[in-house]
Order: sequence, then C-alpha cells, then structure tokens
Amino acid sequence: MVINVREGTADDGGFIINNNIHITKRELEAFALVGMGLSNNEVAEKLDVSINTVRNHIWNLMQKLGANSRAHAIVLTVQNGIFDVKQQKSLDTYVRGYDQYRLCIMCGKASLNNEFKEAEPEKVIVNHVEYEMDMPPVCPSEGCRGDITDTLDWNEVRKHHPEYPAIPEHGVVYDYDIEWFRGY
Ligand SMILES: [Zn+2]
Repeated sequence: MVINVREGTADDGGFIINNNIHITKRELEAFALVGMGLSNNEVAEKLDVSINTVRNHIWNLMQKLGANSRAHAIVLTVQNGIFDVKQQKSLDTYVRGYDQYRLCIMCGKASLNNEFKEAEPEKVIVNHVEYEMDMPPVCPSEGCRGDITDTLDWNEVRKHHPEYPAIPEHGVVYDYDIEWFRGY
C-alpha cells in the first residue's frame, strides 16, 4: 500500500476540517509513513525530527480526526480524501528504497535484503577439532538455496536491464544473464 498525501487548502498544504480544525501537512506526512509500516523511529529519521515530535504529530492528528486507533485514523483520512491509497505489490520498496533489493542468481527472484534467511552454521572438523562456520544468509524463495553471496544488487541489475522496473515485484522471476555474471 502506498499512501500519497493530497494537497489540502490550508496554507501549509494541510487540511481544514470540521470546525476550523487544521491538520498540518507535517502531521499527515508523518502519519502516512506510519500507515506504510514504518516505526516511529524510522519516521523520525526520515523526516529528520525527534521521535517525540513524531509521536506528537500522530497523537494530534488522531485527536483532530476523532480517531480511536491508528487503523481508524487511516480509514478516516482515506474517507475524507486526505490520503490517496494505492495498492502496490511490494510496499517496503516505496518506503525503504529499491537499493535494498537483491536478485538471486539461482532462482532469479528479487527479494528484500532483510528477507534473506539466516543459515544454520556449518560444522567443520579440522585436525579433530570441530569448528562452526557462519554461513551467508540464503534466498527466501521456496526451495532455493542461493546464498547472499550469489545475489546482485537490484541497482546493479538495472544497469544491464534498464527496461526492468525501478521496483522489482515480489515472486516474479527476472531473467538475467547469469553466465555474464559468473564471468564478471
Ligand atoms: Zn533464490
């Protein structure tokens, strides 16, 4: 889900509702990010404000809307035409950026970096002494054992395939010249 904050009629681009209640643009921007799944901390970082400011923005917005929960507030902002909500296949991307996507060269699917699963450490015996070797995280796609060292940054992929979308879709297999990659 991608939330766009519509341009309101208030001086700051926010909205005037009911009895002259002014919902500020900043409150809406903060809340839109929360609605897209960011934590208060992440919103604070993105808007370059303190976490308390974020909390205040959200609290104020909920009071002004008369919302009793964040989910209720989302519904109200959409119903009132303040938020324009679009369904997207990969929501994280809009929030966190496509540069965190990697293309698995084993199965060809793109996944978010943080979706790669931690692999069990491998036991190695050297001179009768057992060591545990940390293994790189593996591709989250069903049945794939591609590890993170066998992946490509989506940015890198797009340099060779500019026709690919800026944001890869989850579960879609992207053809890639794997031979080229191996010789690289
Ligand atoms: Zn894979």
